[in-house]
Amino acid sequence: MIALVTDRDVRVGFSADASGLILVPDAVARPSSVDEVVDVLRQAGAERTPVTPAGGQTSTTAASITDRGILLSTRALDRILNIDVGARTARVESGVLIGDLQRALAPHGLFFAPDPTSDQECTIGGAIACNASGPRTLRYGATRVHVKGLTVALLGGQVIEVRRSRLEKNTVGYPPLQDLVDWFVGSEGTLGVVVAAELALLSKPAVEIGLAIPFADERQALAFVVTARESAAVSPRCLEFLDGEAAAIARGDGGASVWPADVGAVVYVEEARNDEPPLDAWLALAEAHGALTDAVNVFEGDGSLGVARRLRHAVPAQMHERAVRYREAGGRRISTDWAVPYSNLAAVISEVRARAAEAELIPPVIFGHAGNGHPHCNYIGRDAAEVRTIEAVVERTLRDVVGQGGTVAAEHGIGKIKAKWLPLQFDSTQQRMLRAVKRELDPLGLLAPGNII
Ligand SMILES: Cc1cc2nc3c(=O)[nH]c(=O)nc-3n(C[C@H](O)[C@H](O)[C@H](O)COP(=O)(O)OP(=O)(O)OC[C@H]3O[C@@H](n4cnc5c(N)ncnc54)[C@H](O)[C@@H]3O)c2cc1C
Repeated sequence: MIALVTDRDVRVGFSADASGLILVPDAVARPSSVDEVVDVLRQAGAERTPVTPAGGQTSTTAASITDRGILLSTRALDRILNIDVGARTARVESGVLIGDLQRALAPHGLFFAPDPTSDQECTIGGAIACNASGPRTLRYGATRVHVKGLTVALLGGQVIEVRRSRLEKNTVGYPPLQDLVDWFVGSEGTLGVVVAAELALLSKPAVEIGLAIPFADERQALAFVVTARESAAVSPRCLEFLDGEAAAIARGDGGASVWPADVGAVVYVEEARNDEPPLDAWLALAEAHGALTDAVNVFEGDGSLGVARRLRHAVPAQMHERAVRYREAGGRRISTDWAVPYSNLAAVISEVRARAAEAELIPPVIFGHAGNGHPHCNYIGRDAAEVRTIEAVVERTLRDVVGQGGTVAAEHGIGKIKAKWLPLQFDSTQQRMLRAVKRELDPLGLLAPGNII
């Protein structure tokens, strides 16, 4: 059995994620091999001790922190076990950072498609457990479709291998039982600890361009997003929206020379192809929607696209920083990740703004994956009372969102913070089935208690 660390400083070091909450675990385990993970889970099962897996702890929903039992950090499971260039697959341990994997793949002309903007800090295991997505999900899909197989340690210490079937047809049983990989992708640590994964990779396209397209008015920007999704003249890899404040944060983070100033909104688009990208078509579409086309910035090549990515990442990072100062008063950032069918997005955002104004909140900063109908509305609650007001405002929006066929959580998972909103989306039968799966794989309810259920 590896030593469990109970030293307070170490436990406190694992007590925060990006949710703004603090939960100090009773002990921390830092296994560096599958055998050590198995040891922890076997012992925990025998002693009925809860175990919460954690990777980079960038969760915005308090999914990766706990004050019940052991926090099992996967950060020492950080080996890239194999890159098969011909088969375009990689086998990695779950604590590998996505950014490190991308750096290892780049010399082979390959990449792992899921691109959460936190990719330099988050792990493959965390991305799998949350079915993470990112700007380029518009083209490539979320993490789920890029996972070919998993090695998972269950509570009690059993290790199982689950693999995608290569069958093209299958009518045996209910679909959720046909591919067990899907049980673990998005399970937020509640069903097992992912110790290793086999991932599908993509070849890097020959040409990748990005355009930061400014608009005076955010409604023009959101109308442009809908047209760009439906146009046959362009095929965007991402369609990201930044409202005026989000655009100013990006520019302020070293973007002064490459990012538009004093605008109502920016739409950042990328297109990737093996032939000439349709720049003229993009500019014509933008002009038709009243974009400030003289101020469009073009990003081309890895270095330049990396700058655009960093500026975009500055927005959630800065919002997180802004909220830290209110922590002592019980304040925090509340970040939504609801999604609706993309053509409904402008109407919901307009409602969000009206509700925030009516409740006299700091206006939320809104940015994110508009091409998927999926923004992040970042509110800052300055004290505990204001946090409660914001949650009530958000809940009203979530009821509308679900009514429109949307989801309460499109990419950050449910964790602990949003578990109360799951019943808005899942009816009683779905909730019973969720619990039945949980009971089957974790009968004692010891894995990641409080997450999802
Ligand atoms: C600034 C910022 C930007 C972000 N941008 C995005 C974005 O663009 N897209 C997006 O999808 N998310 C984003 N996120 C949220 C977060 O980064 C992702 O959910 C990420 O995938 C979490 O990975 P992690 O390694 O940090 O996991 P953690 O936060 O450590 O854990 C997250 C969940 O996964 C579980 N878990 C972790 N490792 C394992 C494992 N090996 N086995 C089983 N369960 C495990 C934990 O129990 C927890 O439930 C962002 C967060 C921040 C702070």
